[in-house]
Amino acid sequence: MILTLDNHLSLADVKKLIDRLEWMGLRVVRDTDSQGNVILVVVQGTDKQTRLEAFSQLPGVVEVKHFDTPYKLAGTHVHQHKTVIQCKDHKIGGKKIVVMSGSCSVESERQIMETAKQVSAKGATILRGGAFKPRTSPYDFQGLGEIGLKYLQKAAEANHMLSVSEVMDPADIDMVAEHIDILQIGARNMQNYSLLKQLGKVKNPVLLKRGLAATYKEFLLAAEYILNAGNPNVMLCERGIRTFETYTRNTLDIAAVPILQELSHLPVIVDPSHGVGIRRMVAPMCYAAVAAGADGLLIEAHPDPDNAMSDAQQTVSPETLGEIMQHLAPIAQAVGRSMV
Ligand code: PEP
Ligand code: MN
Repeated sequence: MILTLDNHLSLADVKKLIDRLEWMGLRVVRDTDSQGNVILVVVQGTDKQTRLEAFSQLPGVVEVKHFDTPYKLAGTHVHQHKTVIQCKDHKIGGKKIVVMSGSCSVESERQIMETAKQVSAKGATILRGGAFKPRTSPYDFQGLGEIGLKYLQKAAEANHMLSVSEVMDPADIDMVAEHIDILQIGARNMQNYSLLKQLGKVKNPVLLKRGLAATYKEFLLAAEYILNAGNPNVMLCERGIRTFETYTRNTLDIAAVPILQELSHLPVIVDPSHGVGIRRMVAPMCYAAVAAGADGLLIEAHPDPDNAMSDAQQTVSPETLGEIMQHLAPIAQAVGRSMV
């Protein structure tokens, strides 16, 4: 339900109204509509079918609209403008396409520092690196843990970049959030609802990856868990899905980009590295993603890709990243975006 408020209402009156709705057991999110009017998005559970008329009687409410979508906070009915996530002095979801790059795992202090320097020189503004790795085999490198996060933080700060790293356990959220700007929820955890709910506790933006077999609906409802828990800064990441095709690691679903953009106001990021799992296919998939309207890319890169400790087969060199960035400039421009 969306309540449009009288433009003359004072901040104190808006607050009073929100308090009253919350007292009624409803979840309320304050926003503005495309005309600049203050609106309240009121989320009702199925057990709280409060009548429309009751809302229109509330002081300061000029219009009440019911919406019939499962994406109560992620859906485009909430506001016409796209969400632009502000993190430090970086914007995600604006005209500029953001590039997150770095190695699959943080391997050592030296390695991530060198990676940061090289990917930053090619134009990446967000440094990625996993310290808690969800590996298929328990015998594979599991990541360096907290010390790895500290190395990532140091490398990002030294190069004026933001950092992004995966958190797998609800118990680690506060600790990861202390070191890292953007918390990644991996594909395998997209439907770990206790983890998603806990992300409402922190202010860090969340990069939510699409589950291996998740429909758009399941993906958006997973985002809805984080939004409903109180964290509005969620970006959606298409990273390929499981299909019958085995040539590629996953099937990168490019159609997800315009579809998610149509259904939701949240920024859409594409991860071609995990999407195809083949180094030489990363560049064309980056081009396709930007042409389709992606707000950002996540590209695994390493100074010595063949010897990366995880996902070497899909990791590009900083030189290739530089070439990708160059080729992306005219593509971004053609769709009304820019790379810088
Ligand atoms: C990763 O980004 O390194 C990763 C493990 O991604 P995903 O969860 O998409 O497999
Ligand atoms: Mn990886």
